[in-house]
Amino acid sequence: MNYKNLKKCDPQVYKALMGELKRQQEGMELIASENYVSEAVLEALGSVFTNKYSEGYPGRRYYGGQEYTDLAETLAIERAKKLFGAEHVNVQPLSGAPANMIAYSAVLKPGDTVLGMDLSHGGHLTHGHPVTLSAKIYNFIRYKTDESGMIDYDELEKMAIKHKPKLILAGFSAYTRQLDYKRFQQIAKKVGAILMIDIAHIAGLIAGKAIPNPVPYFDIVTTTTHKTLRGPRGGMIMCKKEFAKAIDKSAFPGFQGGPHMNNIAAKAIAFGEALKPSFRKYAKQILKNAKVMEKELIKHGFKLMFEGTDNHMVLVDVYESKGVTGKEAEIALDKVGITLNKNMVPDDSRGPMDPSGIRIGVPAITTRGMKEKEIKIICKWIKDAIKNRNNEKLLKKIRKDVVKMCKKFPIYK
Ligand SMILES: *Cc1c(COP(=O)(O)O)cnc(C)c1O
Repeated sequence: MNYKNLKKCDPQVYKALMGELKRQQEGMELIASENYVSEAVLEALGSVFTNKYSEGYPGRRYYGGQEYTDLAETLAIERAKKLFGAEHVNVQPLSGAPANMIAYSAVLKPGDTVLGMDLSHGGHLTHGHPVTLSAKIYNFIRYKTDESGMIDYDELEKMAIKHKPKLILAGFSAYTRQLDYKRFQQIAKKVGAILMIDIAHIAGLIAGKAIPNPVPYFDIVTTTTHKTLRGPRGGMIMCKKEFAKAIDKSAFPGFQGGPHMNNIAAKAIAFGEALKPSFRKYAKQILKNAKVMEKELIKHGFKLMFEGTDNHMVLVDVYESKGVTGKEAEIALDKVGITLNKNMVPDDSRGPMDPSGIRIGVPAITTRGMKEKEIKIICKWIKDAIKNRNNEKLLKKIRKDVVKMCKKFPIYK
């Protein structure tokens, strides 16, 4: 990494950037929504495409000078179509939250009813949590998981019949089981609802063909591009042909102004990387690593929500199994250089700022090349750090071991 101009022109920001680079190189990144993009993606993000205004879509822009922006955006669209088998793709959403707002406003009127997954049961804030703008505009009703941690599809069907939603929304950010796409489709058909899924977390697993592809079953599919998909921070919407016009109009001019072309060029690169056989291997390794993590954590006496995992993350109730809160666990692990986040568990008796659980994901460490052997060691560190959270000496020793392992799997050399 060479930031020679930045170093000269702004030593303060340079210092922050270098600190962050070192933190990423020497830290064990277990935040389920994070990953490391390739240097090619970083180059595109820092490229001259950042200078260009390109409101509109390829071939239909509101500004001149678009031959190369059109080329980059078309590449991103065509590659995404191939990757997911989508009929129509919009690569302009600035991130996951705007992608969802764009999708809602494409097909809903203010006051329309939406069925979405409850936040504490794994759904996302943008799926109608009361603090969000979407909840102020639309009438969100939230479905939950049952006692075993699965989505209760019979209950979902009953709710759909009762509330007659215009839109049924699937997708999550802290749920670990495979969704029954067909069942969602049957329920939506039965009540005449539009069917949408937000695959922000699992897009890379789908692109890498490690888990089933929902795109054929859903009318609208939103995603981020920076989680398991390992692209730049951003959003994307895929949809059936009949929704194409509404989605495009809703993105621009409906919700956003000029797209971020440096970001779209980086998306094209990431999608190109995801089309390679090596990405399929990566996605499969994520699942393997998560399974090892599931088994090891159970062995160490942790309680896993949803009885385990089918994807890239596990949700652990540390409060019930170890008597520490999610926040205490997060702080203890931060001290040893293991980064993850506290998280609510279904119907959490504690609040969101200090909930009962932690969420652990393996996409980033899998990108570094870590496999089963390393996962086992990491799980032991997690157990030891939480148990000995007041033993500064031991935490320091684990910290040293974490750095050592990270150096064996270097990033951004
Ligand atoms: C991360 C996430 C989002 C939000 O994405 P941002 O890019 O942070 O706006 C939306 N939906 C789900 C399911 C997510 O996991």
